[in-house]
Amino acid sequence: MIAMISSKRPLLTSSAIRRQFVWTGEADTLLGAASDQTIATQLGVSKASVGGRRRQLGIASFCTSPLVWTAEMEAHLGTDLDTVIAKKLGVNRQQVFRRRHQLGIAANRPYSEQLTNIVAKVGFPSVLSELSAAPTERHFLIDQLQFRRFGGGFPDSEDKTLTVYLEQALAEVYSKNLHPPACPHCFSRRTILAARPRANEPKPSFFCKTCDRRFNRLTGTPLARLRYAELMPAFFRLLSQQLPYEDAARRLNVYVPLIRNWAKKIRQWLLQLDPSGEWEAKVRLGIKLRPHLRCPRCDVPGEKRFFGRDAVHGRKLLCPACNTSFSVKDAERLLQQKVRLEVLYDPGKAEVDSEAKNS
Ligand SMILES: [Zn+2]
Ligand SMILES: [Zn+2]
Repeated sequence: MIAMISSKRPLLTSSAIRRQFVWTGEADTLLGAASDQTIATQLGVSKASVGGRRRQLGIASFCTSPLVWTAEMEAHLGTDLDTVIAKKLGVNRQQVFRRRHQLGIAANRPYSEQLTNIVAKVGFPSVLSELSAAPTERHFLIDQLQFRRFGGGFPDSEDKTLTVYLEQALAEVYSKNLHPPACPHCFSRRTILAARPRANEPKPSFFCKTCDRRFNRLTGTPLARLRYAELMPAFFRLLSQQLPYEDAARRLNVYVPLIRNWAKKIRQWLLQLDPSGEWEAKVRLGIKLRPHLRCPRCDVPGEKRFFGRDAVHGRKLLCPACNTSFSVKDAERLLQQKVRLEVLYDPGKAEVDSEAKNS
């Protein structure tokens, strides 16, 4: 490996290589005078790097006075998504969330389409098996990865086929159709209608004459007793996107553990619906990826690290062998080689796998 370096000329010119940021006296004077994020954006380095340098020099962090809520500000709470209101008021989402809770104001979720609308739209019976099966191979979009935002959010990368598949499956389990399905406990066909949909229980329930048990269409699926089922349609749209759980939680205005739990349940459900795993493989939410590429400077192949991105050069990588960072765009052009992405961590998959082993 090392020998290859001397035999091959460096492929990059110095302008294409971004060396690691060097702290100058001038840059140091900025520390503590504004928030780490502001300084990071100004210098084009990461927030962590600014924080690290500031602590190294023993400079206290920039401190803003505690937030005082005025009646005028409070009037905004619950009128839109917390994130939108936070932006409007120039505070962070956590502050809006906490204040809204203190005042007992319900969250506003203008995007969540009513489940009943979806069921009505899709109708019954579903045509799940007729949907064309998609390839299991997973494609990742390097510019839409889960990484620290510089200002704006993530571009929309929804896989509509997965959304449609899940909406149809959901419509089926929430269907008001009175025709009794097979028993989910013993798979017997000797089933009858036990109760029609009522106001407090909008799903019909059934009775199995073979095993003497009651059930409804949710029984035996990971969706039984699902909290906030009305948010599922909005959640489905995020499942196929390469987003961190935190971002999904922010968009749906719920806590991260809930998103984690939903992702796990929907993955299990997808495996029930399609044991081949083709549909489950379309779930991208929460996964972490690691890039592989030959280094344009030292020529060492293999794993690289993501190194943030900037407006000019786009996504950047760091080579652990020579500690040089470079932009993906430049490297791919110079090497005539595409970055290969491998799944480093797939939280949902890990959970589904371990559960399969346990059961
Ligand atoms: Zn039964
Ligand atoms: Zn290198």
